[in-house]
Amino acid sequence: MPSVGVVGGGQLARMMVPPAIALGIDLRVLAESEGSSAAIAATAVGDYTDVETVLRFAEGLDVITFDHEHVPQAVLAALVEKGVAVRPGPEALAHSQDKLVMRARLEELGLPQPEWASISTSAQLGDFLDAHGGSAVVKTPRGGYDGKGVRVVRSAGEADDWLDVGAPLLVEQLVSFRRELAQLVARRPSGELVFWQVVETVQEGGVCSEVVAPAPGSDGRFGQVAAEIASGIAEGLDVTGVLAVELFETTDDRLLVNELAMRPHNSGHWTIDGSTTSQFEQHLRAVLDLPLGDTGLRDKWSVMVNILGGPATGSIAQRMPRAMADQPAVKLHEYGKEPRPGRKVGHVTASGDDLDDVVFRARAASAFFEN
Ligand code: ADP
Repeated sequence: MPSVGVVGGGQLARMMVPPAIALGIDLRVLAESEGSSAAIAATAVGDYTDVETVLRFAEGLDVITFDHEHVPQAVLAALVEKGVAVRPGPEALAHSQDKLVMRARLEELGLPQPEWASISTSAQLGDFLDAHGGSAVVKTPRGGYDGKGVRVVRSAGEADDWLDVGAPLLVEQLVSFRRELAQLVARRPSGELVFWQVVETVQEGGVCSEVVAPAPGSDGRFGQVAAEIASGIAEGLDVTGVLAVELFETTDDRLLVNELAMRPHNSGHWTIDGSTTSQFEQHLRAVLDLPLGDTGLRDKWSVMVNILGGPATGSIAQRMPRAMADQPAVKLHEYGKEPRPGRKVGHVTASGDDLDDVVFRARAASAFFEN
């Protein structure tokens, strides 16, 4: 039985469990705490920043992979030194851990991205603003997620609190975009690479709320460009496993890379129900260097809606029966997490031939879990 260890016990690790069972993979999870989302597979609970804890967890496992990108490089290096197969590898992961590292490397690779700079003073931010029409987006290079660590600024002093910390910041042009997209790919260590169709992602307040698969109007040249960008990144950075490339479709018809995730991603949850091979199954296949699965669509359209926050009263479980009865064709996924404002506690996916109907059914099902 091949064995895979996942560092991190969130919903991504949880959703790897069903395909692991189906494929006969021994899946083990190092969770942050008891009662994690992936508790069903959590064989260890401990601190992923502690070298000894992670080395002990890795003993006897074929491959180590991740539910998040926060494992320190020192811990990754210790795993590699012990001969553990770490996938994606530390060098690749550095590009999803630090947005400045990512921007510099994408520039070397000649891939399209917003204009950017590394800044350490408000005067440098002022210069960037002057050169870019007076507005920009400042980002903390590390540790941001769901829009935290991202700020639109219009004057040089607006990032002073972050600059006071003493580490350089990333500043980007404020991109005028029509919509946001995500291109998901999977790559094996031996080089095989597959794509799903590019999807449209809708964000509310920096958090993904809905995904439409495939992105309307993306079948032709446009989908091809997204796939070329993502394969350039997967190969250029030697990524193994699933890679999600978040893209801006600009108002002047270009695709620019926003950021990268080297693991299954929220923009790919629809694949569980809408694709022949889900991103979770594919990630396991890819990190084990097994032949990759077909990425074809099961239906013409799939729409995923996140359940953000969850019910204000009662639990998701209590709301399930009504959602099930009202929308029997919608697939419901809950993450075993306590409801909390803004928290991703589950998602729903509807699929079918008519996009309006699919959107309606997905939203109708998710509404049972709100308020
Ligand atoms: P996070 O790491 O929190 O996901 P992102 O870098 O993806 O942060 O930014 C969050 C959101 O902020 C994006 O989805 C997008 O809507 C907006 N955003 C980020 N960078 C830019 C930019 N350069 N121009 C315009 N909007 C941006």
